[in-house]
Amino acid sequence: MGRLLVVEDDITIGGHLESSLRVHGHEVVWQRTGRGALRAAEVDEFDLVLLDLGLPDLDGVEVCRQLRGRQPSSILVMLTARDEEMDVVVGLEAGADDYLTKPIRLAELHARIRAHLRRGQPSPEVNQATYVLGDLRVDTAARRASLGARELELRPREFDLLARLAAEPGMALSRETLMADVWDEHWSGSTKTLDVHVAALRRKLTDNGHADTAPRIVTLRGRGFRFESPTD
Ligand code: CA
Repeated sequence: MGRLLVVEDDITIGGHLESSLRVHGHEVVWQRTGRGALRAAEVDEFDLVLLDLGLPDLDGVEVCRQLRGRQPSSILVMLTARDEEMDVVVGLEAGADDYLTKPIRLAELHARIRAHLRRGQPSPEVNQATYVLGDLRVDTAARRASLGARELELRPREFDLLARLAAEPGMALSRETLMADVWDEHWSGSTKTLDVHVAALRRKLTDNGHADTAPRIVTLRGRGFRFESPTD
């Protein structure tokens, strides 16, 4: 159960989303414009935002970028039409954690929301470890990561991906494993989300002169990724 912001200008889709989410126990604020969404995000905090990219007043990607700035720790899920592939990549780079393609299947929507909200909470049965590789330190209990003396500013799913990689350095991790462990255990479809998050993590790990002392995310063609300690 969470506090959700729904941004959708289509009355029928928005109405269905709102009532279905309420039935599942969520508190829902529904906004029909980009400006309305940004105002709501200024005065209120949300666990998760469902953001339609095609809005009447503002560019959806720009709304995404500004929402990310105002709600750094909330999960941002874009709602896109099937033919908006480019928008998906741009939206992920603008700060979205995930996306769903319209027409939205409610069962998938609820499963995805459940998975996202569950990950946000520290669960006692999960091992709360601290990983140290080179200059990188990942503290999963505090959800903090640092490179040398500098704290890394990571989005929620970037942190989860980094923690997952750091848990098994030197191992080949398949794309499917990473998608399942970090996003959704029933993931089926594109892994573009993963590529954008890997690219963002690589950027953050090599910034500010730590390129030689930070671990690397190595791409294994057709198989996945391997997290390598700088001494390997
Ligand atoms: Ca729309």
